[in-house]
Amino acid sequence: MKNKTSYGYDLNKMNNECYQLRKNVMSVIYEAKSKGFSLPRIEVRIVNGGQKNIVGYAYLNTNIIHISEKYAKINKANLTHLVLHEIVHAVTGFKHDKKCYLMKPIIPCCPLLTKTWTAFEKYIKKNKERTLVKQG
Ligand SMILES: [Zn+2]
Repeated sequence: MKNKTSYGYDLNKMNNECYQLRKNVMSVIYEAKSKGFSLPRIEVRIVNGGQKNIVGYAYLNTNIIHISEKYAKINKANLTHLVLHEIVHAVTGFKHDKKCYLMKPIIPCCPLLTKTWTAFEKYIKKNKERTLVKQG
């Protein structure tokens, strides 16, 4: 059985390379946690072979993020930007916002991480407030 997922992507086989790529992605999640963001357990899936213009994706409110194999080994700034973007989708359920540095659909070519983290913080805060209201 083929492990097809979205956008024509396949799930990578679990081997040493895949573990290393997941580690790269997880390091961004750990960094977020070390900065004090409280996040649920996030499942990271490495995918390959899909649409070239889609480098990562997440389903809203699932706590699962998909990162393309190629992007999982890109430089830290780009990877951080992508992973935080997908976390916002997967954890908070917020969608794209063309005016937001982090949540616009296109990744800036050289992300400025201070701006990326500031935008991320805004979404995590918004989500927390929303949850508090829900729990009323
Ligand atoms: Zn997105």
